[in-house]
Amino acid sequence: MSHWNNLPQLRLGVYPTPFYRLENISRIYNKSIWIKRDDLCGVALGGNKVRKLEYLLADAQKQGCDTVFTTGGAQSNHAMLTAACAARLGMRCVLILKKRGVTDRKGNLVLDDIFGAQVEFMDTDSYEDIYAEMRERCEVLASQGHKGYIIPVGGSTALGSIGYAECVRELAEQAKEVGIEISHVASATGSGGTTAGLVLGTSLFLPQAKATGLGVDTDPFEEIVSELVKEAAGLVGQPVPTDMDSRFRMIYHVGAGYAIPNAEDTPYIEELARQEGILLDPVYTGKAWAKFLMLVKEGYFDGQEHIAFVHTGGAAALFAMDLG
Ligand SMILES: *Cc1c(COP(=O)(O)O)cnc(C)c1O
Repeated sequence: MSHWNNLPQLRLGVYPTPFYRLENISRIYNKSIWIKRDDLCGVALGGNKVRKLEYLLADAQKQGCDTVFTTGGAQSNHAMLTAACAARLGMRCVLILKKRGVTDRKGNLVLDDIFGAQVEFMDTDSYEDIYAEMRERCEVLASQGHKGYIIPVGGSTALGSIGYAECVRELAEQAKEVGIEISHVASATGSGGTTAGLVLGTSLFLPQAKATGLGVDTDPFEEIVSELVKEAAGLVGQPVPTDMDSRFRMIYHVGAGYAIPNAEDTPYIEELARQEGILLDPVYTGKAWAKFLMLVKEGYFDGQEHIAFVHTGGAAALFAMDLG
């Protein structure tokens, strides 16, 4: 059971994840910058999908499912972490990935194999085609006495996003322990669930803090996130935040396209590695972090004393593609 009324949750990661001040970066940018290390959450190479999967796979188990289906791009961190968590729970994992991006056996595709997932590619631009295929597979499984559970891309359902409201609860406790007040929480936005959780979580546990999603894809995340926040609030029996417009903003930093590394971000990726020993990936966290620091320089956070970046993982991409 979780902190939330009657919502089943598994503990798959190791918590709390570290939360601390980036001393060198804070000095260089003349701003008190904190990091929440969800890349160190204790499963595989870490990452934000684990907190979502704690709710999604608990739901799958509750429904008696023994096979998990999910999807993403070829180098999906979400697919890899689903494979890791499903294996640990003794569930079969089928990944039907879009035949897009780096499909060589590199990066996350190596890890998918190690975790024993069944990996397939579908040559389509639409996730709807992939979900239709999964529903058919589930019917076949049912006729064989098995039960499938379909997790949409990124695990970004309302239920999955609860994991990031939970992350803010954890962060709020850590901030209290060190005696600071966090004024802003920012993170990469790829399918919206993490940002939705951060928006709901800040409204509940850090009411003074704003949340900014740093978009690494071009979807209309303002709407996607707002819908997820409403639905997630309902799931945990909390009021929908009424001040969403003032507490949540999306800022995009996509560059040439989703999963295409940005040359202008590379100096920021190298700086964080060399100053703080922290790795970012060129698809999600590198883009988000670069934009975060550009915003610091532009004065976006002026008047806010302590700001926090949530590191959502993704390092396996470094072994599949070059930086921009
Ligand atoms: C999936 C992912 C994100 C984006 O999270 P969403 O909940 O899909 O918006 C950010 N960083 C990394 C490393 C990811 O794998």
